[in-house]
Parts: sequence; C-alpha cells; structure tokens
Amino acid sequence: MGIELTVLGAGREVGRAAVLLSGADGRTNIMLDYGVSFDEDDKPLLPLTVPPSKITAILITHAHLDHIGAAPFLYTSARPMAAMSRLTLEIGRLMIEDMLRLSGYYLPFEYPELITMLENTKTVGLGESFWINNIYVDVLNSGHIPGAFMYRLVSGERSVAYTGDVNTIDTRLSRRLSTDGVEANILIMESTYGMYDHPSRQRVEDLFIETVRSVVEDGGIALVPAFSLARSQEILALLVERLPHSNVYYDGMAKEILDLFLKHREFISRYDLLEKVKNTFTPVRSSEMRKRICREPGSIVVTPAGMLKGGPVQYYIKRLWNDEKNTIILVSYQAPTTPGRRLLMLGSLEDGGPRVRAKIYWFDFSSHAGATDLFNLVKSVKNLEKVVLVHGGEDSIYTLGYRIREELGVDFIAPKNGEKLSL
Ligand SMILES: [Zn+2]
Ligand SMILES: [Zn+2]
Repeated sequence: MGIELTVLGAGREVGRAAVLLSGADGRTNIMLDYGVSFDEDDKPLLPLTVPPSKITAILITHAHLDHIGAAPFLYTSARPMAAMSRLTLEIGRLMIEDMLRLSGYYLPFEYPELITMLENTKTVGLGESFWINNIYVDVLNSGHIPGAFMYRLVSGERSVAYTGDVNTIDTRLSRRLSTDGVEANILIMESTYGMYDHPSRQRVEDLFIETVRSVVEDGGIALVPAFSLARSQEILALLVERLPHSNVYYDGMAKEILDLFLKHREFISRYDLLEKVKNTFTPVRSSEMRKRICREPGSIVVTPAGMLKGGPVQYYIKRLWNDEKNTIILVSYQAPTTPGRRLLMLGSLEDGGPRVRAKIYWFDFSSHAGATDLFNLVKSVKNLEKVVLVHGGEDSIYTLGYRIREELGVDFIAPKNGEKLSL
C-alpha cells in the first residue's frame, strides 16, 4: 500500500491549509497544517474535519492562522503529537488567543484545547529529523516568515515534501528557501501566485522609501497598514535601515511579535536591524499617544491590520483620511471584500462614502514566491513524479500546473477539498 493524501482545506482556494497524509503502514495519519479562513462577515471557516482520535501527529509549517488556526480542534477529544518551531509555537499561541477573543463564539474549540495542544507540542529545529511511527520526517526551511518550515516525509519507498507557504528571495527577516538536492516523489506546493511574477524587491523598496520620504518632507503623515506578523517588522527593518532618523511609531500586535522575534535570534536574518528598531522607533502604548501622533507632521505609523479589517489602524485612518497631505501606504495583499481592497479600487472607506483625500499607494512586499519562482522550485526537486497544487485560486493553479506539465514533463493534480489521492 502506498501513501494516501486527503486534501481537507486549501483545495483550489487560498487559506485553511490542511492535508492528511496516511502512511504506507495503514495506521499512521499525519495532518500537515490545520488552518482557518475567514468569510466575508469575518466568521472563521475550518477545513473538513476528521475524528481527532484518528490523527497520529500534526506538523505545523508556520504561525499564520490559515496554517495553525484550527489545530486546537484536533485536541477536543484526543492528544496527537504536534511539531513546529519554537517561534511558531509562541507566535501561534498569541495569534490563536487573539482569534479566540474576536471569534471564539463561532469556533468549535476554546482556550483549554489550545493549552492541550501546546502541552503536546514537540519543538523542532531546522535540519532536524525525527520519526513518527515508521514515517521519517525532515525539517527544511521555507523562507516564508521567521520560524516557518517545510517538511519532507518518507514512508516506505515513497517521499513527499509539503511546502506550506514559501518564499524564494532573501528578506531582512528570513533566508530564502532552497530545495536544491531535496529528493521527493510527490511535492505538495502552495500556488498563491501561480500566474504572477512579483516586481524586483529592490525596486519596490526604493519606491516605498521614496514615497515615505516625500510625505514626511511635505509635512504629512505616512500611515502604513501592515499584517502584525512579519510584514510590520519587515517594514520597520527597512525603515530603520534606509530612514534611520525618521519619526516612526508601531502599534498593535506588531509590538508583541517584534519582541518574540527578538527572543529568537536564530530565526532572524538581520537581527541587528530589529534591535535597532527596538532602540530607535517608538511603540504606541496609549490612546492619548495615538491622538498626539495624528497631530504630529512628518510621522510614520506602521500598524495592523494590513487589509484595514480591525486593529489600531481604524483609529488612525479615521483621523488621517481627510487631509491630502497624508498618505496611506498599503504593503499587504488586499483580499476581495476587505476595506483595503475597497480603498484601492474605489478610493473610499465605505460603500458610497466620500472620496479619501489622503494619497493611496500599494506596494508588493509579498512573502510568497511568484510564478517563475514556484516553477523553478519544482524544477529543483529530485526524483519528482507529481506536484499536488494547493493554496491557490483555480486560475492560479491551472496556469502554473500546465506550465509545469508542458515545460518540465511533471504531472500535476489540483485536488478539491475532500479529494483523496493514492500515490
Ligand atoms: Zn503564511
Ligand atoms: Zn498560507
């Protein structure tokens, strides 16, 4: 008997990643990520469920909620072993606690299940290997955000690599993924940007810095809404390197996550820059401070939420939108139906609302590999027979899949949620 894969989430969609791998021994079931998505009304959506008692172990790639958010569900009636990096464990805890506070009513688990999960977690490091029954697991770098891994599993004669989310360029936070020399018969790969190449990061950074500089010089305020995990710290590191004497504030959960990054030097590429951020820029500690910052020409504010859904950015935007001197600089992906997307497309904060007078920009600071990078990743894997494309929209998956099939002669599968593959 070979390996079986059941896609429980992220089948032809971005979000709620979950793949169940059943080993050749017929008794070992390993969950690869178990994340949540959020619908238009911000209600959490879980992947398809399986009885937790059937799960032997769960391997978490990283701390974004679309990869770890639903994992406590697997502890409602069982105690499978979980594996992840120490940083993912600490950030994951923070992210899930926050989600329980905001959306706990809709979730099929509570705080005690989160604690049970943490108690049953084995923290693993880059380059380590371990066994789950007779399945051998290698821990590899994914380059996506600090603490993010990909996993390679070997069961009998068959090997499977699961990417989680990947990035193939170096950033100030993370070293890029390299799969050179990695051997896998099956590659389960994200395909968020399967039909799109990112512009050069250097060029994006230069334009971003130029934009911020001109706002500050004109006496405006630059508001940079950014995801609390990784994007905020990456922007702060860039600002401290290129505009070290500017007046920068950071707010919301970006503060706690910066502190967690600083606790775990081994996961951060440019640790020196994060130390400099901590020593030079100012965390926002009170609502009086927020009020004062909004009257301080030349200041720069980095704050969640990246898509303008909730978070302290709400406070700032209400006070800054109506002045053409100010600028709103989006640096994160803007999902359809989010206020950030509406602002970009329609130039207003509410449907039918007044036109925002502040200038609006969007910069592509993606932490996901672009189409050509994903293609090259596939090319670099040895002994590859099949690629299973997940975590991407249908257009993205098929564009990338056909390119892989035609140019590399490697077959691809685009499973829907609930589909089982025997490999
Ligand atoms: Zn991610
Ligand atoms: Zn993801």
